[in-house]
Parts: sequence; C-alpha cells; structure tokens
Amino acid sequence: MDVKNRDIDFIVVGSGPGGATVAKELSQRKKKVLILEWGDNKPLTGSLWQGFKSLMWPGRSLLFTNQMLGLARGIITGGSSVFYYATCYPVPFDMLKFHGVDIAQEVEEARKELPVAPLQDEMVGPMAKRIMESAQDLGYNWQKLDKFMYQNRWKPEYPFGHYGDPHGVKWSARMYIEEAVANGAELINRTKVKKVIVEDKTAVGVEFTKNGKTWRAFAAKVILSAGGIGTPVILRASGIKRAGYDFFFDPLVGVRGTVKDINVPISEIPMTAGVHIEDEGYMMTDMAFASVLTALFTAQVFRFDKLFSRRNTLQILVKAKDELGGRLTDKGGVRKNLDDNEKKKLRRGYERAKKILKNAGAKSIFKTWYLATHPGGTAKIRDIVDTNLKTEYENLYVCDCSVIPEAWGLPPTSTIIGLGKRLAKHLTGDLSSQESLSAVPFEQKEELSLT
Ligand SMILES: Cc1cc2nc3c(=O)[nH]c(=O)nc-3n(C[C@H](O)[C@H](O)[C@H](O)COP(=O)(O)OP(=O)(O)OC[C@H]3O[C@@H](n4cnc5c(N)ncnc54)[C@H](O)[C@@H]3O)c2cc1C
Repeated sequence: MDVKNRDIDFIVVGSGPGGATVAKELSQRKKKVLILEWGDNKPLTGSLWQGFKSLMWPGRSLLFTNQMLGLARGIITGGSSVFYYATCYPVPFDMLKFHGVDIAQEVEEARKELPVAPLQDEMVGPMAKRIMESAQDLGYNWQKLDKFMYQNRWKPEYPFGHYGDPHGVKWSARMYIEEAVANGAELINRTKVKKVIVEDKTAVGVEFTKNGKTWRAFAAKVILSAGGIGTPVILRASGIKRAGYDFFFDPLVGVRGTVKDINVPISEIPMTAGVHIEDEGYMMTDMAFASVLTALFTAQVFRFDKLFSRRNTLQILVKAKDELGGRLTDKGGVRKNLDDNEKKKLRRGYERAKKILKNAGAKSIFKTWYLATHPGGTAKIRDIVDTNLKTEYENLYVCDCSVIPEAWGLPPTSTIIGLGKRLAKHLTGDLSSQESLSAVPFEQKEELSLT
C-alpha cells in the first residue's frame, strides 16, 4: 500500500536527536517533512512500565552481545534522549574537522536555543556532592558538567526522569519533534522502516510496516536517523551491505559503595559532575539510578545483600572508549567482544572509582556488569557517507550516531544535534556553497589532512 496524496520533500526515519533536529530545522524552513517512528508517541509519564516498554524490552530496545553486555536504546518518539541523563558534553571539533566536517557554528546555535548549563547548587544531589568533594580532595579535576535541562522548571520533589520526564525539566529530542509538528511536519508512529526504495541508484522513498501491513512512502529525499543500530540495518536491507561493521558502543561499569549517613533522594540527578581521564581512555561521573535499575544490576552480579540499598548507595560510572570493531547482524543483533585492553581500561577506572568512594566513606564496594548506551560509528563519515552525510545513493542521507567517524567514549547528543543542523542547512542550500561542494566522498579518504 502506498501513502498517497502527499507532496513530501523529506522523509525522516527515526525521531531521536539526529532525526528530530533535521525534521525541526527543515520544517522551520517550510519544507514538507514526514517523520516515521517505530516507537509510540504516548505522553511521557515517567512510569516504570513506559521505561520497560521503550528502553528495556529484550530484543527490541535492550540488546545483548555474546558476552551478555546489555545495550539499551529508546524506541519511542524522542529516541534514547527520552531516557538519557541530559549531559551536554563538549563536541570534539578537531576530530570532526579532520574528517572534513565543521559544526562549530551549528553547535553554537544549538547552545543558544537549548537550556545548556551546569546545575545550580540547589539541584546538586547529596550523592553527586559527596563524590565530587571526595574526588576533588584526592586531586581530580572533577567538575560540574553542562546539562540539557530547564532548571527553572525543576522542583525538589520531582523524581529524575529515568523513565521519561513528564515535567519537561529534561530537554529531549521529543521537544524538537513537537516543534517540527507545530511547523507542519507529519509524524507517523508505530511504523518500522524496512528499507529504502532505490531506483537507478537514487532513493525515492521507503518501505515500512504498520499494523502488520507493508506500506510505501515517497519523497524527494530520505534521511535515515534510526540510530546506531537501526540505521545500518536499513542501509543493508537497501543494498549498502558495508554498513554496520567496526563500531563503538562505549562500554561502562557502575562502581558502588554503601554509606550510612546519606539518603539519596529520587530527585538526585545523574551525571552532575565528573572527569575525563583522556590518556587512560575513560570518563568517570556520579550516577544515581532508579530503584529497579539498581536492583537489576545488583542481582546481575549476585550481590543480593545490596538489592534494596539504592538510598544508601554511592555510584560512580566508568565509561570507556572502546576500539572500533564487531559487526551487526542483518536483523540488528550485536556481535562484539570487549577485548583485554578494554577490560583493562574499565578495571583501571574501577580502581580509581573505588578509591574515590572509600575516601567518601563508602564501604562494601563492588562493580556491576558491563552495559552500553551509545552505539555508533556504524555508517561512518568518509566510509558509508560523505562529509555532507550523503550515502552512495543520490538523495539518501544519514544523520544520527551512526556517522561518527572514530572511536568515541563520550556523551554524543550535542554532536548529533550539531550534525543535524548542518545537514538541514546543506539540504536547503543554506550552507555556504563552498562548504557543501567540498564534500569528500568515500573513495578520497587519504586525501584529507588535518588543518
Ligand atoms: C540511559 C541512557 C543515558 C544516556 N545519557 C546520555 C547523556 O547524558 N548525554 C548524551 O549526550 N547522551 C546520552 N545517551 C546517549 C544518547 O541518548 C544517544 O546517543 C542519542 O539519543 C542518539 O541519537 P540518535 O538520533 O543517533 O538515535 P536514537 O536516539 O537511538 O533515535 C533513533 C530513533 O529511531 C527509531 N527507529 C529505530 N529503528 C527504526 C526503524 N526501522 N523505523 C523507524 N524508526 C526507527 C527509534 O525508535 C528511535 O526513536 C544516553 C543513552 C541512554 C540509553
């Protein structure tokens, strides 16, 4: 069946930070945009059920590697940003420039329109405060991180939106989608895009399933923003078989200890402050979890004595930069092993985190099993897409975490928003013609040099 009677300029597949940014920017420029999103668009309630359905559903949003490393992604309007910790991390401009992409101006624009700032002191929870004081006492440059949060909307009684934020304190890509829809974009939920329709090496539309039926929609251009796992699966089904290899997922462990004199409230905001130990390849940050997640990860390492200890737990998250490697299956299964080097990195981080927690007065310290929340690099710039994010097919673009060209290890949302803004400018001719024309395609990798 075809989606008829529509004159669509752009189809955007997926509504996470990549898709939402492009959709919002294009619709602001009066383009007709159709957004196809696999997940639902139910109002955010912050309930465990919504979090379970859209973030922790095994085989759909929660994937496991062969080493039982859990990889979580949001399948809902707004994508993973509905469940993220709202940390706005500095963009590695030099690395992107090395690959021929300059998003400095776009990131600047985003920082002006989004609520980006470190938390005001009254929002810093007791866990984050205790850990920061301890780390600074030991000589770490442990500093508050920028957050994507409307701090003026915050109230001390609001739980942090681990399962979505009904109070709208945490910025999520859903807010950009709402703007896009207000600008005239059409959002169709519960639609799973299967492949791009390609004629003469040119994308003309997409094929998707909805309510058990297969549909087709056509547009002048198609942008895939189905995330680090979703996009390469669609690319492969559309004939670009090289997608989905040699990726990163930023593995992490939680390091936990018990304190008697702190009662961590449900309003505690995770990732308030931290430090990037760049030469050792990981970052450390305070990490408050919701009760059920605390219990789940505790049970996973058989610390049943700590199952219900969330209120007295201090946790530091150690997030490493893994080497590019592994492969996705055609259905999106994740095949990648953590090698000894990566495990060693996480162990070093664990040792440091343990000392910080001990210095903070914590006892009974242990670490959780591996988890990952940033799959990317599955359709890299200058490999699967050129520097304008165009694939080898005319009119087919990618804009999400997939295009990040190197091993990563950092919160990616600020970078993805910058890429989305730049792509929208390119597609509407608003990028300076020199920048657009200088697109470096896949074959010419070796000709680029650091400027
Ligand atoms: C628990 C958690 C905490 C995090 N904390 C932070 C943080 O503090 N700061 C930070 O910068 N990053 C954080 N991240 C990572 C960040 O959320 C992601 O990197 C970011 O959302 C990726 O954006 P994206 O556009 O690439 O993809 P996604 O956000 O994954 O969006 C992809 C969208 O595409 C849809 N989709 C997938 N397949 C299809 C298909 N076939 N058809 C139609 N639609 C499809 C999905 O439903 C989803 O809505 C966190 C992630 C998690 C899970």
